[in-house]
Amino acid sequence: MIIGISSFCWECFNETEQTPEDYQRLKHELNSDIDFEVELNDKNLYEFICPKKHRSLTQLQEQKFEILFDIASLALLDGYTKEAVSTYSSSLERFFEYCILVFSLKNSVKSGDYDGMWNLMAKQSERQLGAFLALCLQEGITNRIVSKKIEFRNDVIHKGYTPSSQEAIDYGQYVLSFIQNTLKELNQNSSDYLQQAINIHLTKNTNKIPKNVRLNTASMPTIISLRSLNNEDYGNVPLIDSLNSLKENGFYKHFYRKKIQ
Ligand SMILES: [Zn+2]
Repeated sequence: MIIGISSFCWECFNETEQTPEDYQRLKHELNSDIDFEVELNDKNLYEFICPKKHRSLTQLQEQKFEILFDIASLALLDGYTKEAVSTYSSSLERFFEYCILVFSLKNSVKSGDYDGMWNLMAKQSERQLGAFLALCLQEGITNRIVSKKIEFRNDVIHKGYTPSSQEAIDYGQYVLSFIQNTLKELNQNSSDYLQQAINIHLTKNTNKIPKNVRLNTASMPTIISLRSLNNEDYGNVPLIDSLNSLKENGFYKHFYRKKIQ
């Protein structure tokens, strides 16, 4: 999946008087209305080199589970119901990982100890689900797992079952409600730790960046939209409405280019 990131160079801007006029002039010179195309990757680091050879790296603020949920929805809109269900399921699994981190932060688990524990379950999703369920129970977080949805997901992924559009939408809605309602619950009693988990995500790349290279953070409004969690009406938009608006949403078309390199 190719995505579009900003082609504006802040190093070039630093070399000017940094007035709004300089910004506009540079934007024009760099042709920054046209984004730079990069391939979505697992490192969450995207390189851009400006015409003056300034090198900058961009990371996305959004969590992996948010991006996966968007990609599943785009696949669904294009008619790939099986791929959509599989990717909605990946989104939910990465959300379990995110929650396990939040609970560990809340319980003052040292990062080295957390990493050691995670390495033992990183490749086994059943272990991750088990850890998530046990922690939800201890933390008083509602268990939203529906066994029939797990069976459905296994049929799609392991038995080659081809889901109908409605089944894929229903499964996506289950995952969306699961994630958004759990986030709302966490935000009520663990908001500091939600924020800490976001900060860990944003600073993960800092020590990988060479000294003379700038790290930018870009953000885009995903369907799950963790960044809107504090809005009063958070989680009230049904998936079908988001899917319908996505078809016309210029921002989505601009960001997700739906092609390969
Ligand atoms: Zn530059």
